[in-house]
Amino acid sequence: MSIHWQQKMEAYREELLERLKELCSIESVLDESTAKTGAPFGQGIAEALDYMLKLGEKEGFLTKNIEGYAGHIEYGEGEEIVGILTHLDVVPTGEGWTSNPFEPEIRDGKFYARGVQDDKGPAIAAFFALKLVKELGLSLNRRVRLIFGTDEESQWRDVKYYFEREPMPDLAFTPDADFPIINAEKGLLDLTLSGSAETASAMNEGEWKLARFEAGQRPNMVPDFAAVRLEGDGDVFELKEQIQDFLLTHRIRGYAEEADDHLMLVMEGVAHHGSEPDQGVNAAYCMARLLRGIQLDKNGNRYISLIHDLLDDSYFGEKLGIAQEDEQVGRLTVNGGVFRYESGKGQHVELNIRYPISGDMESIRNQVAEKVHPYGLEITHVDHKPGNYVRPDHPLVKTLQNVYEEQTGEKGEPFSIGGATYARALRPGVVFGPLFPGHPEKAHQKDEFMVVDDLVKAAALYAQAIYELAK
Ligand SMILES: [Zn+2]
Repeated sequence: MSIHWQQKMEAYREELLERLKELCSIESVLDESTAKTGAPFGQGIAEALDYMLKLGEKEGFLTKNIEGYAGHIEYGEGEEIVGILTHLDVVPTGEGWTSNPFEPEIRDGKFYARGVQDDKGPAIAAFFALKLVKELGLSLNRRVRLIFGTDEESQWRDVKYYFEREPMPDLAFTPDADFPIINAEKGLLDLTLSGSAETASAMNEGEWKLARFEAGQRPNMVPDFAAVRLEGDGDVFELKEQIQDFLLTHRIRGYAEEADDHLMLVMEGVAHHGSEPDQGVNAAYCMARLLRGIQLDKNGNRYISLIHDLLDDSYFGEKLGIAQEDEQVGRLTVNGGVFRYESGKGQHVELNIRYPISGDMESIRNQVAEKVHPYGLEITHVDHKPGNYVRPDHPLVKTLQNVYEEQTGEKGEPFSIGGATYARALRPGVVFGPLFPGHPEKAHQKDEFMVVDDLVKAAALYAQAIYELAK
């Protein structure tokens, strides 16, 4: 039997857009201040979840709300479950929107609203996909569950809670990133390193005290800004010359500012996502390179040496002794994302490490702990998400690939990424859309949009995917 999925989905275009407008009008941003029993992430998110489940009820699907943490819409019969995981929480809007982010607008064939791409558009597309499968009267051997998470943008407390109470689907995908298929994601390890930095003992002649060093806000971003405060009574003129030389030879933007009793140094780098640390310019590393040429107090020097000895110009873990790679996802990466040093108070570094599927988190962690120990640092916090890998010949991947190739006429080869997606909440799980190759990524940005035609195309792909996986 051959079904023209794209054509069938066209019939739902207007209705799909209407429902998406309603869903995107709900301000489902995490709001602990309105949290209560049954609405653990606040009123807006609870409303969005209610909205989706009511939609399912009206359609005659089974629905279940897991105490406001997550919910699902279920259709079909069978022991096994096919799952489609989306989320209804959105990130805050930020500034600079052309239209109100919670008053959806269609302009030039683009649907503008906070969350339309990430991830309400996909949630609605998956809903209409299931509705189409139902209305076609196709018989299924597996149950289909549309699972709606509500804390993807923060701490994933939704999926944790949900899967402690509900079964893991036997086959599942999440439309929360890119087409065609993401089947491999590196393991993620954020390490916080902390230690003391006693007040500098008596300063030697010509030394500067590193009073403060600050760079970066988040471990998963390459810092684009570093600021340092130096104190002492060395030769300011000479120091400023040295700094100018450094900025010129390294073509880095920055400046030195002199005040009564101190000198401020500022350096600009180039921000980039922490999964590709070699693609940005790390302002902290640059600053450390400059300060290596300046005589600093003992503790200050130790902090700068740490950056130089273990991190600078070593984006793949070589200096830390954790370099490794595999065929599935490639090389381990290390991003030094946050740096804080205050003389007499303490020192602090946050690392974002992404390691191959074959890697071992414990041994990486132990190796880092050993390496930073001589610099007076210890690992004080660990945030870990294991990697995700589904073989390219797994029926889940094969099926989605066939659906994609059949409908789009394009190659549907699965690919790997260094970032983390909702797919890791699933076992097995892969990403399937919603962003088509080459289309602009607008998630988390101002004027977030999805091309209306793409929404309909994605919904048709999800409909066939549901059918092929559950039949
Ligand atoms: Zn998302």
